[in-house]
Amino acid sequence: MPDESSTLSPRCEQLRTRIRDFVAHQVIPAEAALDAGDRAIRAQLREYAVEAGLWALPLPARYGGGGLTPADYFTVAEIEGRSDHAPEVLGSAALLNARMIDGHADPELREKLLPALVSGQLTMSYAMTEPGGAGSDPAALRTTATPDGTGWRITGRKWFITGAGTADEVLVVARTAPGAMRESLSILAVPATAPGFRVVRELDVLGTGGQYEIEFDAVTVPASRLIGAVGAGATLAGERLALGRTLRALRWVGQAQRAVELLTERAAQRRVDDQPLAERQLVQQMVFDAELAVRSARALTEQAAAAVAADRRAHVEVGFAKVAAARALGLATDHAIQIFGAEGLTAATGLPRLLRVARAARILDGPDEFHIEATARRVIREYTRPPTAAPNRNPLAGN
Ligand SMILES: Cc1cc2nc3c(=O)[nH]c(=O)nc-3n(C[C@H](O)[C@H](O)[C@H](O)COP(=O)(O)OP(=O)(O)OC[C@H]3O[C@@H](n4cnc5c(N)ncnc54)[C@H](O)[C@@H]3O)c2cc1C
Repeated sequence: MPDESSTLSPRCEQLRTRIRDFVAHQVIPAEAALDAGDRAIRAQLREYAVEAGLWALPLPARYGGGGLTPADYFTVAEIEGRSDHAPEVLGSAALLNARMIDGHADPELREKLLPALVSGQLTMSYAMTEPGGAGSDPAALRTTATPDGTGWRITGRKWFITGAGTADEVLVVARTAPGAMRESLSILAVPATAPGFRVVRELDVLGTGGQYEIEFDAVTVPASRLIGAVGAGATLAGERLALGRTLRALRWVGQAQRAVELLTERAAQRRVDDQPLAERQLVQQMVFDAELAVRSARALTEQAAAAVAADRRAHVEVGFAKVAAARALGLATDHAIQIFGAEGLTAATGLPRLLRVARAARILDGPDEFHIEATARRVIREYTRPPTAAPNRNPLAGN
């Protein structure tokens, strides 16, 4: 039951309706095929998205995208995210990589990659996490990029890299200097055709694919494939985090909303002892808790979106949103499965898929513990600052 009493622009209002219909009638019915990696179905749905005028909405208009600003895209991201596959099918999943290339790549490389990336002819993965080191600790990164003639030689392994098995290009975060300093990391664009690049295996993540382990075995790339300056890797990676985490949180709220809709519909229909399940207090408790979690997560996620769209510092808002949205999706899906009984465990309900996303959500984009710790530190700092001219004011409000 999202709050529809909005102040959206007519364009965004209309887009919300059209995206909602597209996701409900085209993407959700195809989820099983998309889970199985059916590329023909994905290509067909992408064509439909182009025909429907819904392709690549937040990508730069000068390269063929829809040109929605982050603020406008945030207003449709929850609706789009009702299926975890929809951002890929609608071409908006390329947003973070496109922004990185647009903002920081060598002009020639930018003009080569961006039109194809926006049109969907070229796909790109982002490779940071490595086997053998904690993903939330950049100091643990072992992949190196060393100067090689006029370019770079890259050696290392990455894993859990979404889409890398079929990607044409990989943005790889590599160490260009020893030590734990922020300036020791850089980002390079590596074509999947480069000698020494290898897809090691597809990882089975709770019974589904799409995540890959990849290897760079002395891969060489020209200097023009460095993204931004040498040593700017941590800064560039940080730049994409606030937007990326906020988008994921919005999408998880969309899926949590879907779980609550399934839960309530089933509770109203299913009768036990000639009474709808919805009349049982224990069931009402589950409905209450799931709806409370979704509404709270939506409110926190909208706060994060507002701060990110306004380019304000948003660590606290994004930290709360990420954790709240992951929890809401887990809780709402778990309760929906319980109310469906055994049928809830079957793929036909779509609930196991939501549960899988929910479980990964607590680890993805930095594990929840990392966000809890970092957010709590900031909260403590804010509350214990020497008093300012405005006493009794919540120091975190409106950050
Ligand atoms: C479906 C999926 C898709 C992904 N896609 C990509 C991708 O495209 N590109 C990419 O680079 N990576 C990707 N990842 C990797 C993801 O970003 C990492 O898994 C994540 O950052 C956590 O890193 P890790 O798995 O190494 O866990 P670690 O960092 O080793 O953490 C393991 C556990 O340690 C605990 N922990 C960690 N930090 C703290 C702390 N500060 N306080 C207390 N406890 C803590 C937590 O319980 C945590 O779950 C993906 C992962 C998944 C599951």
